Amino acid sequence: MEAHRIVIVGGGAGGLELATRLGERLGRRGKAAVTLIDKARAHLWKPLLHEVAAGSMDLGHHELDYLAQAHWHHFRYRVGRLIGLDRARREVEVEAVIDEAGVEVTPRRRFPYDTLVIAVGSVSNDFATPGVADYALALDTPEEAKRFHRRLVDACIRAHAQAGPLRPEQLRIAIVGAGATGVELAAELHRTTRELVAYGLDRIDPERDVHIHVIEGAERILPALPERLSKGVEELLRSLAVDVHAGARVAEVMKDGLRLVGGRKIAAELVVWAAGVKAPEVLAHLDGLESNRINQLVVRPTLETTRDPNIFALGDCAACPWLGHEGNVPPRAQAAHQEASHLVRMLPRRLAGKPLASFRYRDFGSLVSLGKYSTIGNLMGALVGGSVRVEGTFARFMYLSLYKMHELALHGFAKVALDTLARLITRRTEPVVKLH
Ligand SMILES: Cc1cc2nc3c(=O)[nH]c(=O)nc-3n(C[C@H](O)[C@H](O)[C@H](O)COP(=O)(O)OP(=O)(O)OC[C@H]3O[C@@H](n4cnc5c(N)ncnc54)[C@H](O)[C@@H]3O)c2cc1C
Repeated sequence: MEAHRIVIVGGGAGGLELATRLGERLGRRGKAAVTLIDKARAHLWKPLLHEVAAGSMDLGHHELDYLAQAHWHHFRYRVGRLIGLDRARREVEVEAVIDEAGVEVTPRRRFPYDTLVIAVGSVSNDFATPGVADYALALDTPEEAKRFHRRLVDACIRAHAQAGPLRPEQLRIAIVGAGATGVELAAELHRTTRELVAYGLDRIDPERDVHIHVIEGAERILPALPERLSKGVEELLRSLAVDVHAGARVAEVMKDGLRLVGGRKIAAELVVWAAGVKAPEVLAHLDGLESNRINQLVVRPTLETTRDPNIFALGDCAACPWLGHEGNVPPRAQAAHQEASHLVRMLPRRLAGKPLASFRYRDFGSLVSLGKYSTIGNLMGALVGGSVRVEGTFARFMYLSLYKMHELALHGFAKVALDTLARLITRRTEPVVKLH
């Protein structure tokens, strides 16, 4: 009898952990054929993207090739972007892959499944604001983060080389959205622009020439986190001379900056759009599956989609009820990780014809890393008796442990320990900021 076919679309924080662990648990023994489909060829844990953008992290040290991971952990990897679904035939449709020279690498193809898990994550939501598509940069993929970094380095080199005075927008960066991504990027940029300039771009004075603005539509930054946390983070950003504009909505992004509702203009050479997320467009009309206004697939507490029990969704692209709370499970790496762990337990039960348990999200709190300046957050849970504010080295350790948990799910203890050691060594022999 042919093995049960589990197809996972999207190898991110949730999908790659699921493929790896199901590969080990079912694929290795031939109990299921596990296939991962991703539009990219390598995986990078998304919460690292702001460090790639700021230049404080070398992608090469953290990217993981899907083909190699699949080979090591007994699943198959196929490249391609999900573009359609045929629920009656149980097939997903994937776009052709074309290389930079316009030559086809793989044709448009279909993959059959018995169980399908959709884990395609989210992209930034521009709320149809004029000019965003043309002039703002997002941080949704490693390519976008690298593009931002290149433009940042170019901006510094240009400013250093130019004979005349700086134009009003030069060396000014506007970050729209003061969620964790926006504020973490602001702090990281404050440090890396100074380090970049210190490598000989001595005609730039960072205190005088480099300006970072953070613009947030809500009345306070980090609106999803407790108020005392956002106060602490705002004080720290202001002490770094980051301009924080809360309660300010962007009306339009332009070539040389942006305009707020009310008319005020903020000059900026680089505009980063990090204000809100939505699931990829393809999910809005996926062969009749129920989706919400931000394109997320609506799922039951078991993570099955409401209209098809053979299809599951997890992570940012799933609207999953948060049992015991109002609203849905938030779009976070820890939620994707927990949902993947839930399905690692549940899919073998499904294969055995046993009933599925509901997923219960456990919020362990939120941590915001302000680069070398500080890490601030709150830890939640019975052990700490509700919500406790944490800061400094302990908070930094907790922040790093989220990534370590992801790495452990992908590689196991021995490889993570060796990789961590190797990175500590190379960090001492390389520039602390990427210079190209
Ligand atoms: C800069 C930044 C910082 C963040 N910091 C934090 C943090 O500190 N803590 C936290 O909890 N969360 C953080 N997040 C959010 C966190 O990254 C996401 O919640 C998490 O990655 C969601 O996991 P996922 O598996 O749903 O999707 P993702 O990790 O986004 O993975 C989605 C995968 O699907 C693939 N894909 C997309 N579309 C298609 C398609 N059509 N066909 C095939 N493949 C496709 C993508 O290539 C990707 O590999 C941050 C996000 C960003 C951008």
